[in-house]
This record gives sequence, C-alpha cells and structure tokens, in this order.
Amino acid sequence: KMSNGSNSENHVKVPKIKFTKLFINGEFVDAVSGKTFETIDPGTGEVIARIAEGDTEDVDLAVKAAREAFDHGKWPRMSGFERGKIIMKFADLIEENAEELAALDSIDAGKLYTSGTAFDLPFTADTFRYYAGASDKIHGETLKMSRALQAYTLREPIGVVGHIIPWNFPSLMFSMKVAPALAAGCTMLLKPAEQTPLSALFFAHLSKLAGIPDGVLNVIPGFGPTAGAAICSHMDIDKVSFTGSTEVGRLVMQAAATSNLKSISLELGGKSPLIIFNDADIDMAVDLALFGILFNKGEICVAGSRVYVQEGIYDEFVKKAAEKARTWVVGDPFDPRSQQGPQAFKKQFEKILSYIEHGKREGATLLTGGNPCGERGYYIEPTIFIDVKEDMKIAREEIFGPVMSLMKFKTMDEAIQRANSTKYGLAAGIVTRDLNVANTVSRSIRAGVIWINCYMAFDKDCPYGGYKMSGFGRDFGLHSLEKYLQVKSVVTPIYNSPW
Ligand code: ADP
Repeated sequence: KMSNGSNSENHVKVPKIKFTKLFINGEFVDAVSGKTFETIDPGTGEVIARIAEGDTEDVDLAVKAAREAFDHGKWPRMSGFERGKIIMKFADLIEENAEELAALDSIDAGKLYTSGTAFDLPFTADTFRYYAGASDKIHGETLKMSRALQAYTLREPIGVVGHIIPWNFPSLMFSMKVAPALAAGCTMLLKPAEQTPLSALFFAHLSKLAGIPDGVLNVIPGFGPTAGAAICSHMDIDKVSFTGSTEVGRLVMQAAATSNLKSISLELGGKSPLIIFNDADIDMAVDLALFGILFNKGEICVAGSRVYVQEGIYDEFVKKAAEKARTWVVGDPFDPRSQQGPQAFKKQFEKILSYIEHGKREGATLLTGGNPCGERGYYIEPTIFIDVKEDMKIAREEIFGPVMSLMKFKTMDEAIQRANSTKYGLAAGIVTRDLNVANTVSRSIRAGVIWINCYMAFDKDCPYGGYKMSGFGRDFGLHSLEKYLQVKSVVTPIYNSPW
C-alpha cells in the first residue's frame, strides 16, 4: 500500500547541498576537466545537484596527496593513541550532524530517514569510535626462533588505499572502509558511487574539522569505468577495498593483476538463503523473512532473497507472509509512516522490474506485488514469488530489490544442499528452536555470516564478508584492520642469551 505521500507536517527539511566538489589534499576543488554530473532524487526523479566529476587526472592528484601524506606526513607516524583521539572527534562530529547526513542519504539513495537516524548514522559514528579504540592496540608478536636470534613482528599500515563503495548504504559504507584504514595509519582516497556522492563529501568536510591532516582522506566522486578504473589500475595505490557487484569485482581484480599487483579485498553480491523449519515460531519467521528482503527496499547484499520453508508450515507461512506484505507501506522516505522508500535510481528500478517479468515468464507465481507504484519516483511493491524452481533466473541471480523467492523443502539435508547451490556465499539465516539443527546447518552452509533466529543482525565487532563468489576479506571487527596492515619481521642475533 502506498502512503499518501507528502504530508508536510511530518516532513524533514531537506538540507541545502553544501558540498559538490572533489575533496583533494584538504580542499574542495573542481575536476581538472571542469566536468560535472547530476545526482538525482529517486523519490521524484528530479536533479538534486551537480557534482564535480572526477576522472583519471583527479585520481592522480588525490593519489599524489595521499602518497605525500603517507611517505612524509605525520598521520602514519603519530602514535596510535593520538590517531584514535582524532578519529573519535570525527565520530563526534558525525553524531552532531547525523540528521543532516541521514537526510542526504534519504534524498540521494531513497533510504528511509527514520532508519537513517535510528540505524545508519549511529552505526556510522560508532564504527569510527570502535576503530578509534583499536588504533593504539595494533600489536606485533615476539617470535620463538630456533637459533640464537631475537625476532618480532611489526604491523605496519599498508600504504595508500583506494576505497570504492556502492550506493545502498552511503554513510555506513564510508565508515566501514575509512575508519579501519585511518586507525591502521593509512592514507586514502574514496570514490563514492556516482548515484550517491552527497554524504561522502559532507564527511570529507567533517574530517577536516576533526583534524585529520590534509591528504590523508581524499574523496573523488565519479563514474566506475573512469575514476573507479583509474583507482584499480593505479601504480601508486597499495590496496583497493571494493564493495559492489561480482561483475565489477572481477574487473577490480584484473586491473590489480595487470598493474602493480596491489592487494585487494572484495565484498560482492549474494543470493542468501533463509531456512525456516517446521518448529519455528511462524509469526517471528514471517517478520524476519519480510525484514530480510524488504529492509532498505532489498538493496542490501545480504538480502534474504531465497526463503526455504519446511513443508509442515509452508501453507500457513505463505498465507501470513502475503497478508503482511500487502499491508507494507511504500512511500516517501521522509514520511515516518513509510516502511519502504524508492529504489535508489532508475536503472536499478528497471532492472528489478525486468527480473519480475522474467520470473512470471519462467512460470513462477506472483503471490503479492510485482508492480511499480506511486505517481512518480522509483517505487516497487513488496513482491513475493511462489512456485519458484531452483534453476530459474530469479532464484539464481542477485536482484537487489524487494523480490523474494519462496520455496518449500522437506528435510534438513535437502535444505542445506539447496541453500548451498549458488555461486554466492555471503550470508544465511536459520529459524528453528532445535539447537542441533541450528548447529548442523550453520556449519554446513558455506557463507560468511549465519544468523540464527535473527537476520541482518550487524555489529561493528562482527566480521562480515563472503565465501565463494561473494568475495574475500572481512569488513567490521578487528579482522577488517588486517586488510589495511602488513606484517614485517625484524630479526637480530642474540649473544649470551641466558635462555
Ligand atoms: P552495483 O551493481 O551495486 O551498482 P557496481 O559494482 O556497479 O555495483 O558499483 C559499485 C561501485 O563500483 C561504484 O562506486 C561504481 O562506480 C564502481 N565501479 C563500477 N564499475 C567500475 C570499474 N570498472 N572499475 C572500478 N569501479 C567501478
């Protein structure tokens, strides 16, 4: 159901767009080419602002600044404790500006403002705090050598990092990449997705106020095949941390291989299964399944897009899921009654609708939804398909929208086998009261995160990333720091050792 749109008393004032230029070496500057591109509000289809369009030459300038800051600047050389204090200040500034940042993400990406203020922005600020606290706890080891040698390891920052992020969680992705890299003592440039550059530029401004030295953090909005590709093939970038599609992940890896063999980490697509057993609390399971596919309008790489329900409760589950999906409120992301905003941009909206058409053509049955909705903007009804076969395109490919494939299974072994029958391995969910089933299934599924009787339960301390073609490397947790560090062994002879 559609919320009745603009209800001005509930409306948050959309902020004036203050930052539209590239952020290089501590200054907002135009692109060398002078070019700009439009960023569009998916709720209306209207242009919000024109943004400086970074390309190869701008990436070069940002890398020069980051290289200088790494090779000669104080950031990698100051104590971890001092770095932590500055990162903590950055977090405080993010918290103070959380409403404005959430509004930028809402207007740029169609994200619910209520989720932005309750979830994305607090999580973003706390991610900076978490890594601020880690920055003075990066330790090496003392090694037991088998000869008269003393040896220890240093964990040093990897160098200049290029972060490339997608458009679905503009603020949270920024923190997930930038915070651990800053804590490690790296310098960096970040390319936000071309669809959602606004919050990243605001963060750039706050980083300067926080006291992050010039050149340490550069932000270059621009397109993938130009600015993004320039980052991946740059000879003077030491690491690329990428989140996006599996197809582009492959290009990132190729570019790294053919340039300077830079280290890369890839957080890619998913087609995550949610397995619901006969003994589940059905209402809780229905809630989890809908949350799993409708949160952030399905634009989340861990979306529970394949829902397997055991045969004993299948019919009741289908009935309840349909009832609940039909009451779901789709509408203006600034309206507090909305449960689902518009898809982030036109091409994505069209891609989702074409998957829905494909599903119908392949013989799946639409239980609910399946249509665009609203008078303008890129809204899609919550959509559930039943009678889905494992080999259908809608069950195999990542749709990245509010489209669930609901399937029936008989035994646990069958569920495990079907859940694993995908090239992806990002996440999985299990709903059961049986501990043995939960334990067996969690160990049998090849995915980077397993949620038992919950779904998308993220935390900054909980590592997150893929198995198989969902990529490699982990975001969040202390594991993420490892991506931005490298190990150096230091060895010296030891004379007259008493032991
Ligand atoms: P999605 O399918 O989620 O839009 P993409 O993988 O296309 O994901 O985009 C994620 C990020 O990767 C964006 O910042 C985009 O600009 C960037 N990107 C797209 N193509 C390339 C490329 N060839 N090289 C580097 N980055 C790219």
